[in-house]
Amino acid sequence: MGEKSRQWLERARKRIPGGVNSPVRAFGAVGGEPPFISHASGARLCDVDGRAYIDYVGSWGPLILGHAHPEVVAAVETATRRGTSFGAPTPLEVELAEGVNAAFPSIEKVRLVNSGTEATMSVSRVVRAATERKLIVKFEGGYHGHVDALLARAGSGLATFNLPDSAGVPEEFVRFTRTLPYNDRMAVEKLFAARGREIAAVIVEPVAGNMGCILPVPGFLETLRQQTQKYGALLIFDEVITGFRVAYGGAQERFEVLADMTTLGKVIGGGLPVGAYGGRGRLMDLVAPAGPVYQAGTLSGNPLAVSAGLAALRALKQPGTYEKLEALGAKLGDGLAQAAEQAGVPAQVNRCGSMLTVFFSRKPVTDYASAKRCDTEKFARFHRALLEREVYWPASQFEAAFLSLAHTDEDIEHTLEAARAAFAEIK
Ligand code: PMP
Repeated sequence: MGEKSRQWLERARKRIPGGVNSPVRAFGAVGGEPPFISHASGARLCDVDGRAYIDYVGSWGPLILGHAHPEVVAAVETATRRGTSFGAPTPLEVELAEGVNAAFPSIEKVRLVNSGTEATMSVSRVVRAATERKLIVKFEGGYHGHVDALLARAGSGLATFNLPDSAGVPEEFVRFTRTLPYNDRMAVEKLFAARGREIAAVIVEPVAGNMGCILPVPGFLETLRQQTQKYGALLIFDEVITGFRVAYGGAQERFEVLADMTTLGKVIGGGLPVGAYGGRGRLMDLVAPAGPVYQAGTLSGNPLAVSAGLAALRALKQPGTYEKLEALGAKLGDGLAQAAEQAGVPAQVNRCGSMLTVFFSRKPVTDYASAKRCDTEKFARFHRALLEREVYWPASQFEAAFLSLAHTDEDIEHTLEAARAAFAEIK
C-alpha cells in the first residue's frame, strides 16, 4: 500500500470504526490494507498514491456502466441544479417506477427507499401483513442487508469475518427466521410440509452473490415457487445484486421464475443510494398511505438518485448490452479457470453473466457449506498478488466480482496475465 493511503488509514481508524464505513472495505480477510481511492473513470480506479487499478468491485455491484459514466454524470448534474430533494412527488419517480415495471412484469407497483437493507426490511413487513403469518425463510450464506431478523447465518461481511450472527440482536428478534441450506430442494419441501401454513415468505438471492457467486441448481427456484404457492406463502427474490445485472429483467427473466415480491438496489441507483421493493398491486397497496403497513423516507425517491438510475436504465436498454456483458464474463471466467488449471491450483469459477467468483476449492461450490470449505488463505494471497499487479478484486472469498460495460478485451487480457502470475506465485 502507498504511503498516502497508509496515512489516511491511520487517520480514519481514529475517527471511524475500523477506518471504514462498511466492513469488507477494510481488507481484514485478506490481511492487507486498503488503498484509499481518490477518483475513478470507466473500469479504472485511482488511489491517493497515484496507482491505477482495473476494478472488479464496481462499488459492489451498482456500476454496471463503469465509473463516472458520462450520461449518468450529466443526469446527476442536471438534477442537482434543479434541486436535490423536495420531499414531494416528482415526475422522475413515476418514470423510474414505470421503467422497473417494464423490466420486471411481476413488479406492478414499487416503492423507492435508500438502500437494499431498507428494501428487505420493508418487504418483510409487507409479506407478514399480507399473509398474517410470522415466519420468514432465508438461506445460509444469503445476505439481505443488515436487518436484525435477516442477519441469521448471513453471508457477505458476516461470512468474511466468520461472524455467525451479529452482536446486539436479541434472540427474540430472530425467532421468526428459519434458515435452510441454499440449493437444497428437499430441505425446503420438508420445512413446508411441517410448517408451511406458518410461513409468510421465502426470501432468496436467486443467484447468490454474498457467499461468493453461486448459481441456483436447476429446479431450486422452481421448487421455491411451487412450495410457496402450495402453502399460501409469498416468494421474495432479493434482486439487489441480480436486478438489471444478470439480465435487464434480473434473475426472473434469466431463469423464467416470477417472484411475488422483489427487492432491488445497486444498479437502479446508477451508483447513488437507492433501494426499492415491489410486487403485485394488491400486495403493494398494503403500504402506507394506500394501506396499513407503515414505511417512509425523508430522501426516498430523491431526484439525484432517481435521475442517475434512469440514466443507467436508458444506457442498459441499448441493444447488445447483455450480450457484451456475457462475452466479457465468459472471457474472464474461462480465462481464470484455465489459468488456475495450468498453474495446478485447485479452483472453481462460478459465473452468471457479469458476476463471478474464483473459489479456491477442488470441489464444486453449490452452497454455504461448500463455500466455507474453500482455502481462504490461498484466496488472500491471490488477492494480494492481484492488487500488486493493479487488479482490484473483491477483498473476500465470499463476494462476487463484477464486470462493467467499460471493461475492454485488453483489460481482461491484462487481468488474465496478472492472474497467471498470481496463481503461479501462490501455488
Ligand atoms: N440484498 C443483497 C442481495 C445484497 O447484496 C445487499 C448488499 N450487498 C443488500 C441486500 C443490502 O443492500 P445495502 O447494502 O444497499 O443496504
